[in-house]
Amino acid sequence: MAGDQLRGDSAAPQPTSAYLDYNATAPVRPEAASAVIATLRTPGNASSPHAAGRQASALVQLGRSQLAELLVCSPSELVFTSGATEANNLALRAAAPNGGNIVVSATEHPAVLEAAHQVAADQQCDLTIIGVDGDGQLRFDELRAALSGPRRTLVSIMAANNETGVLNNVQEIVKLTHAAGGIFHTDATQLIGRLPLDLSVVAIDMLSLSAHKFGGPQGVGALFLRRRLPIAHRPLVRGGGQERGWRAGTLNVAGIAGMGAAAAAARAQLDPERRRIAQLRDRLETMVLSALPDTKINGRSVSRLPGVTSMTFPGAPADAVLAGLPDVAASDGSACSSGALTPSHVLLAMGRTAEEADSTVRFSLGYATTYAEIDFAVEQVVSAVRRVKEAMWVS
Ligand code: PMP
Repeated sequence: MAGDQLRGDSAAPQPTSAYLDYNATAPVRPEAASAVIATLRTPGNASSPHAAGRQASALVQLGRSQLAELLVCSPSELVFTSGATEANNLALRAAAPNGGNIVVSATEHPAVLEAAHQVAADQQCDLTIIGVDGDGQLRFDELRAALSGPRRTLVSIMAANNETGVLNNVQEIVKLTHAAGGIFHTDATQLIGRLPLDLSVVAIDMLSLSAHKFGGPQGVGALFLRRRLPIAHRPLVRGGGQERGWRAGTLNVAGIAGMGAAAAAARAQLDPERRRIAQLRDRLETMVLSALPDTKINGRSVSRLPGVTSMTFPGAPADAVLAGLPDVAASDGSACSSGALTPSHVLLAMGRTAEEADSTVRFSLGYATTYAEIDFAVEQVVSAVRRVKEAMWVS
């Protein structure tokens, strides 16, 4: 992309804040906001047979097909949920083989890790946790060993890590899992809408996603369930039989319409957005590294999401850095676990010390991030880190 386009309108006023927390939640895309508002103005329960109900049902169908187009799957393979947390819980519960083995990676989101522990206890399964190397890459030797026994296995490995952006080679993991007769689920919450994934090519059995990570509203997501999967019908929520009995409850028509519109917009813009976002992320890294050369970037040498950078500032605790950055939205570790006092399990699994993990800030960029926001953020981050380091030296 030409430099000028990347820079945007040079006459635009300089920003006074930067939103760099897309992995926590992305701003709602204008197309999604319009779809939500239009739907909220249209009464109707998608299960009602009258005209208003049929209209609501048509909006749900549209959202379902827009999401299916992004994933390249059949609309009938999608089950709407309240988000990826619910989709992960549902997937693990349905597909964990009674008395078999559940295999997850050490860097999964708690919505997989905690669900896996619970499901393993409920369904008398073993739980095998696969480690990662210093760059956050899955240890394939451990995966192969876990798949080598005769037990029936469910493998659940995330597509992209929420804290570092590090990608897993899902295609390869699917092959290994299927060769061993297992079922493969992926938590693709951070990847969908940011990098292409074609479910007609990659034989993933189940996939979880959340609309708000790609510009849809919060509180809505989906579980992709490939047709004719040999899994038990074990819904988490029973009742009126919606979603083919997989998830009862009145459908969130506005949420689904917004998710569909966001999926369509993300799909249309995927390639230019990913290139532009990667350039902005690289600029952020280069500028911070040149001002603060002892900064360590986690997973920088391996394939990552285009918009994520996990920066360790030695000697500068992340909570103090973030307190000094009131106008830059970023996270220490994962926003979902912020407030918890334990260091990031992802960074510990990558071999970082607790001190390094506690000095790590995640910046995540997305479709609406601008060049000017990055320059503003760099200035703020560099001076906040310098101030914190000086204060630590003095005290
Ligand atoms: N998985 C991953 C990888 C995530 O990043 C998140 C959100 N932080 C979730 C699952 C949960 O998504 P939600 O809170 O929308 O259910």
